[in-house]
Amino acid sequence: MTKILTKYWDQIDPRDIQSYRKKGGYKALYKAIRMSPAEVISEITNSGLAGRGGAGFSTGGKWEIAAKQEEKERYFICNLDESEPGTFKDRMIAEKNPHSLLEGIAIGSYAIGAKRAFIYINGNFVLARTTLEYAIEQANKDNFLGKGIMGSLFDLDVTAISGAGAYICGEESALINSIEGKRGEPREKPPFACECGLFGKPTVVNNAETIANVEWILKKGAQEYKKIGTKGNAGTKLFCIDGSVKAPGIYEVPLGSTVKELIYDFAGGMTNGTDFWFAQVGGSAGHLVPVGLIDEAPGYGKNMKIPLGSGSILVVDKSRDIKKLMLSWIRFFQRESCGKCVPCREGTFRLKSVIERLENGNFNENDREDFHKLVWVLDNTTFCPLGKFSVTAIKDVVKYKYIKELS
Ligand code: SF4
Repeated sequence: MTKILTKYWDQIDPRDIQSYRKKGGYKALYKAIRMSPAEVISEITNSGLAGRGGAGFSTGGKWEIAAKQEEKERYFICNLDESEPGTFKDRMIAEKNPHSLLEGIAIGSYAIGAKRAFIYINGNFVLARTTLEYAIEQANKDNFLGKGIMGSLFDLDVTAISGAGAYICGEESALINSIEGKRGEPREKPPFACECGLFGKPTVVNNAETIANVEWILKKGAQEYKKIGTKGNAGTKLFCIDGSVKAPGIYEVPLGSTVKELIYDFAGGMTNGTDFWFAQVGGSAGHLVPVGLIDEAPGYGKNMKIPLGSGSILVVDKSRDIKKLMLSWIRFFQRESCGKCVPCREGTFRLKSVIERLENGNFNENDREDFHKLVWVLDNTTFCPLGKFSVTAIKDVVKYKYIKELS
């Protein structure tokens, strides 16, 4: 099975640029800067690489929009905020193979015409940040970053910058606000960041896993990349599998793998003595996958029955208390609500109170009515998707009739 992202995790020393170079590191950048930026973008577009942060937008498409803007000052940002519960893949990329990220950032920056790039790292990821900072220092010294990269006219300054670990700062406009020193809250869209982002300039924000694919695609070619995965969902994906499984961890598998394969073929199956109830795919914001959907593959695109999201899978067995689980979801979103809009700020708070009463046995008919109204408000009226995400799994609990008081 082809490994793109994890192949060298146990073979290279993340603090030694030479060990990365021995595995062919920075050859893709060398190749890229001898191509035109348009050719680089076309290669990434043709590969079908979709954003791995959750939305699944075409990476090449995003680069192309930024590259077409009249404004010549542009920025490239690597999103390494990764605050989604149960998701820990981007942090591992930074800790295990930081130069693959830097190489992807340099290629992306060259393609869109950016001379400055930022890596926005969750403030809790101390090892990832120090590893990346050291890698940046080495790459500058060896002229893979900095002025006149590898004898070309391409200059790039890369800075690692820490956020405080707020969930909303994984959203690109809130992330940009945070880098600018403002409150981490989302901006009105349009304009989108690739048209008007950091300091009002065209800015590409790509998730770290997305960027880590770039050097492989440049080296091996878009056609080779497209051979992995399925039509419409190309490449491999890092899945973080957790919960009632024998071997929780990160697995790199081709897109198109079903939930059943992920649990039983990769994560070792259910923990001894437990029965599968459902899986939650995509973190706290993810949908529930009951046994009837277990043979479906999570993926990107409107036609997928299971949206992939960030790629985390929480496996829940039948002994778990669904009310407690629901409470943990809403507590998380209430705490992470940025407070900008009333429906989310007040709605998550009030829904949490109602679910607390459900959990402690004091739930009455008025609560039942309030519960459904609040879920509707959060689903339909919030400023950004975080409000909607706060009830994705809760709506599935109702849909699958897991709690009789809510029917
Ligand atoms: Fe902030 Fe509103 Fe988004 Fe909630 S929905 S995170 S309050 S902007």
